[in-house]
Amino acid sequence: MREKEKVKFLLKFLHRLYGYSNKKKNNPFLVLISTLLSQRTRDETTDAATERIFSVYNTPKEFSDAPLEELENLIKPVGFYHVKAKRIKQISSILIDRFNGIVPNNIEELLTLPGVGRKTANCVLAFGFDIPALPVDTHVHRISNRLGLVKTKEPYKTEIELTKIAPIEELCFLNTFMVKFGREICKPIGPRCYDCGVRDACDYFEREKN
Ligand code: SF4
Repeated sequence: MREKEKVKFLLKFLHRLYGYSNKKKNNPFLVLISTLLSQRTRDETTDAATERIFSVYNTPKEFSDAPLEELENLIKPVGFYHVKAKRIKQISSILIDRFNGIVPNNIEELLTLPGVGRKTANCVLAFGFDIPALPVDTHVHRISNRLGLVKTKEPYKTEIELTKIAPIEELCFLNTFMVKFGREICKPIGPRCYDCGVRDACDYFEREKN
């Protein structure tokens, strides 16, 4: 099966398994802060911290003026909360000074913000602006290589290659549900290949089954 057909096969399977994404477009600033908080932190911890912090502060100006210690207390126990609180203040100040307090809606400018890499920038585009973009995390990278959709060593290359073969309207969906699929079935260690509906198209399964 060629790569484009494999992506279609995977998408069909993921839609059957998880339905369709009902993720609504969100406030881009909230997506940006929440994605920064999520680095090396569990989803539930990130969601709770995002809710706590946005129940007190909302705008880049408010975040920039907030006392550092208070931000730290609000986001605790996310990983590296000292560093992240400082970064949130720093980013908020930059947004005010260089972008009129508005989160930019293009990858080039997003990447100029401290601590913002391609994954975070693509999350902001996809989930904050509803712009087709593919955030590639460890799950998307691993599954794409195991299946043989791409043959890449770095997430950046996976993003570029996958974007060429996946339907543009499915890019955000791919991230959301490949992450879920990676946690539940195609796990980093001990993937559940015999429960997996795409095993007939999977290079890894073909190699490992004997
Ligand atoms: S067959 Fe195994 S390795 Fe391949 S996608 Fe499914 S769970 Fe992952």
